[in-house]
Amino acid sequence: AFSARRRKWFVSIAAIAVAVLILETAATALQAATAIAVNTAPWHLALALLAVTVLVGEINFRQLLQVVWRMRARNAQALLAQVVADNFAGIVVIDDRERIRASSHAAARMLGYPHGLAGSTMSRVLPPPLVAKVHELFGRPERENQGRIEGIVELPREGGETRVLEYVVTLSRVDRPAAADRRDPKTRRIACLTFTDVTEKRAAEAQIERMARFDTLTELPNRNYLVEELRTVLANGDPIRRLCAIVCFDLDGFKNVNDTLGHNNGDLLLREVAARAASLLPSGALVARLGGDEFAAILRGKDADRLAISYAERVVRNISEPFQINGHQIIIAASAGVALADSKDAAPDDVLKRADVALYRAKSSGGNGLVTFEPQMLEPVAKRQRLEVELWQAFERKEFEVWYQPQVNLADGRMTGVEALLRWRHPQRGAVLPDEFIPVAEANGLIERLGQWVLETACLEATNWPARIRLSVNVSSVQFSRSDMVKVVSRALVMSGLAPSRLDLEITESLFLQASEKVHSDLGELRSLGVGIALDDFGTGYSSLSYINKFPINKIKLDKSFVSGLPTKAGAAAIVRAVSALAKDLGIRLNAEGVETQEQAVFLRLLSVDEGQGFLYGHAQSAADTVRLLTGRDRVVVPLRA
Ligand code: C2E
Ligand code: CA
Ligand code: CA
Repeated sequence: AFSARRRKWFVSIAAIAVAVLILETAATALQAATAIAVNTAPWHLALALLAVTVLVGEINFRQLLQVVWRMRARNAQALLAQVVADNFAGIVVIDDRERIRASSHAAARMLGYPHGLAGSTMSRVLPPPLVAKVHELFGRPERENQGRIEGIVELPREGGETRVLEYVVTLSRVDRPAAADRRDPKTRRIACLTFTDVTEKRAAEAQIERMARFDTLTELPNRNYLVEELRTVLANGDPIRRLCAIVCFDLDGFKNVNDTLGHNNGDLLLREVAARAASLLPSGALVARLGGDEFAAILRGKDADRLAISYAERVVRNISEPFQINGHQIIIAASAGVALADSKDAAPDDVLKRADVALYRAKSSGGNGLVTFEPQMLEPVAKRQRLEVELWQAFERKEFEVWYQPQVNLADGRMTGVEALLRWRHPQRGAVLPDEFIPVAEANGLIERLGQWVLETACLEATNWPARIRLSVNVSSVQFSRSDMVKVVSRALVMSGLAPSRLDLEITESLFLQASEKVHSDLGELRSLGVGIALDDFGTGYSSLSYINKFPINKIKLDKSFVSGLPTKAGAAAIVRAVSALAKDLGIRLNAEGVETQEQAVFLRLLSVDEGQGFLYGHAQSAADTVRLLTGRDRVVVPLRA
């Protein structure tokens, strides 16, 4: 066995085994022949030790370690390769000999190599701009091996489109195991290129950005864009370049086009108008759609005012030429307002507002023309703004009062109820009539609180009157649709303790124009509370009889314009007679407003009108006077003479 050192290990092991066999055979033979028992155990032990020595000498521990290391490395590599391959992003790992060591399926797909990239060199498969970036990173000095480059590349695709990739290349140093290939340096550098396809994201971002600045229907710039542009122009330090003019224009009666030809054709008309307006622009000017049928243009330079007036004239003239839309010939006019922005103007909104005020003037003087802004035009606007502010203050200072006007049964002249009418005691101007301030309160939002206050005040007041006296309260359409009327009315009834059957709410037809589900169901709920609904000013608005059928109305108030024509004006009597017949038919009570003379009262009674209201029976009067009137004798206000 010792001599066999240089032989193969299994020869030595075989020799030891033969020696064991010979030893044991000899010992057995000796015992059989001579009855001497030889103790062979130490010999066997020695031989076994020898065998172990031979085997141990054969095993190279270093090699064993390496096998283990390789197996582990291979496992780790397989795991990493899988992670890379399945990654959602495009990943390409490149070594410093430019070979691709790993890549994701996503990368292969995005680069157009569906069968994978492994084993290729990077310059064969990566687009040149990315190859250049990897080179740049490898080209950096050895010490800076933690570098990174990121950016965006646009790659042409077939079909003329471009694909946009967002990428990062990072450089890493990888230590190699001691027994690696001798040709390799001890450490190697690896570039990892990660990229994602952001083509669609970019397109979406661009689309959103466009939408923020352009109108989707007409493709003109939108209000934001115009205001931004105007701000830039006005912020310009040079007084000449800061000079600009605004032309606001819109179509006269555009709503008719929508109503008669449909919104689709309305939209097409707006596009045509936009196209004409854009084609008339001088160079350096801009036209935007502000919304609806309203447009505005900015014209610049030291003769901006002249340019603007001539542009406005041409727009008005050009739009009055017929349009051909979907086989319809549309003839429509436009109005324009022009305002010059000089160096004193700071805010773009002010300049736009001036052009808008001028446009409003142009429209209110008949349309189809242009008006240039003048400072005194702001007077009514300023007055209205003052009123808006004053109204809120008046509400807080409790300058409002509710007055009551009698309503009378025409058959016997007895008072059946009152209508609550709002009064404003202005500290300087005295009594201001509701026709002046209700529209303002509707516009500035006060109407909700004001309307609720009237209702609560009147309901509470009505509890001081005899139970047969009903109370009518006006509810603005704006208030009705903005507030939860069912809640507001129930609250007023509960707070005052007034019986619901004594209350009528006066609404106008404008409420039905919205024809929303909410209006319909609110009216129904109010009726089921026991509250009456009166249709006010009947005959002035749309007077569509269909509303009376559709909505739960139990009283009609015929407008005073019909009553004032009685009895002489021919048409008036016919209308009153017709409405009266209809009301009878439907079981709806009829009230005639504005009864000023005995003659009118008699005539209305003959036409079977149930109830009258007007100066003949009394003006609206304060709460105190009303109580006095009602709690005195149960008296007839004006006895009817036959
Ligand atoms: P309306 O509901 O048609 O109220 C009747 C208006 O006609 C009242 O004017 C009343 O003073 C007036 N009037 C009454 N009898 C006669 C008459 O014989 N001849 C003439 N020529 N006029 C008569 P007022 O008080 O100025 O109210 C005007 C409008 O303001 C009301 O018209 C109503 O629409 C609105 N309004 C009044 N109070 C309120 C309120 O509390 N809330 C709401 N939302 N609107 C109110
Ligand atoms: Ca009324
Ligand atoms: Ca009325």
